Amino acid sequence: MYLENMKSTKSLNSIKKDFPILNRQINGHPLVYLDSAATSQKPQAIIDTLVDYYKNHNANVHRGIHTLGDESTKMYDIARQTIAEFIGASDKKELIFVRNTTEAINLVAYSWGRENIKSGDEILVSEMEHHSNLVPWQMLAKEKGAVVKFINVTPEGKLDMEDLKRKLNPKTKIVSVVHVSNFLGTINPVKEIAKIIKEFQIATSKTPRNDEKRPLIFIDGAQAVPHMPVNVKELGCDFYAFSGHKMYGPMGIGCLWGKKELLEEIPPFLTGGGMINTVSKDKTTFTDLPDKFEAGTPNVAGAVGLAAAVKYLQRVGMKTVREHELELTKYALEKFKVQSSKFKINIYGPMNAEERGGLIAFTLRLRSGQAGKEVHGHDVAQVLDSQGIAVRSGHHCVMPMHDKLGLAATTRVSFGIYNTKEDVNKLVEALKKI
Ligand code: PMP
Repeated sequence: MYLENMKSTKSLNSIKKDFPILNRQINGHPLVYLDSAATSQKPQAIIDTLVDYYKNHNANVHRGIHTLGDESTKMYDIARQTIAEFIGASDKKELIFVRNTTEAINLVAYSWGRENIKSGDEILVSEMEHHSNLVPWQMLAKEKGAVVKFINVTPEGKLDMEDLKRKLNPKTKIVSVVHVSNFLGTINPVKEIAKIIKEFQIATSKTPRNDEKRPLIFIDGAQAVPHMPVNVKELGCDFYAFSGHKMYGPMGIGCLWGKKELLEEIPPFLTGGGMINTVSKDKTTFTDLPDKFEAGTPNVAGAVGLAAAVKYLQRVGMKTVREHELELTKYALEKFKVQSSKFKINIYGPMNAEERGGLIAFTLRLRSGQAGKEVHGHDVAQVLDSQGIAVRSGHHCVMPMHDKLGLAATTRVSFGIYNTKEDVNKLVEALKKI
């Protein structure tokens, strides 16, 4: 079957060779790609899997009774099983294919939210959320007359756990936080958050506004699943979302994992073909999980490609991935301390690399001339691009946290499995030219 040739282990030493795009020259320089938090590059094995799917197996799933339809359906099912096992789900039916993390959050805000949120209820997010884990809750709150509250972020860029405890109350219906921040880099203590919430659930289960299932815990894992071992059951959350394109898989495919009993309980998000049992002129009944949440023709090639990406990551090993990116982050944080006489680098988020994922957002301030003046992030990114180095600048879809820090924009470098210390050296040399 299509994942069979993806079993042997893979060393990180020569991994760059697997990514054809990394052979490109950009503005006369070899590409140094430091924007994996926005999207990762794709190894040849994943590109080949997509080509093979379309060349040899393409057909719609769950429908026609012919060989290709059967092959495609099997590949789609195996993909679901592979990805479900990768994140520690106990049942593949708990894994819903969506387009991306954003769609996964919208699904829950729509389907669960519209059934369960009432006027006066509270939705608790943190100040470091990506807009994807804020705007859908804001829309829901507006529609229902509920309130979105924010867990404070400390000056060190960490979640204020005491503030979480203070803000939990019987009106809190869901707590939705990011696993690894795409701006501060902070790895949030999801397991501890889940434990605090569980204790709160038990303590308040008899109050009229609550029951032992509330508040639920939603985790935005977009920046975690590609970079560290994640086991949704061990974390103790209710929902978990991630995107395929950030983990070496194709664009347009992502996953929502949810506890089976919750997914079974809530109504579908989108409706139409592929998710019904029976339809009459006045009534429709829906299929079981996971099809209930996958209306219309799914992105089969995307799912198959994402499963290939999972196999690829498993060949490296998620512990190895984390260790590699941790080492790069430590190295970059050290290098950033060796500052130029012309400018000072300010780094945001925890200064201890162990507490952060493989990304660093920073600003540059000039020391002399226009002393204290900040170099705009776009200028930094442009100068780096002229030397073949791809980084991102702006608010990274985390405007509330930028506002809190009084920042209009930052520059962000983010690592993937293909990055090396040499890439960091090139970055630091290029920064000195600004
Ligand atoms: N959450 C976080 C933490 C992210 O970093 C991103 C992507 N930058 C998203 C959500 C949204 O992901 P997508 O665009 O794939 O939906």
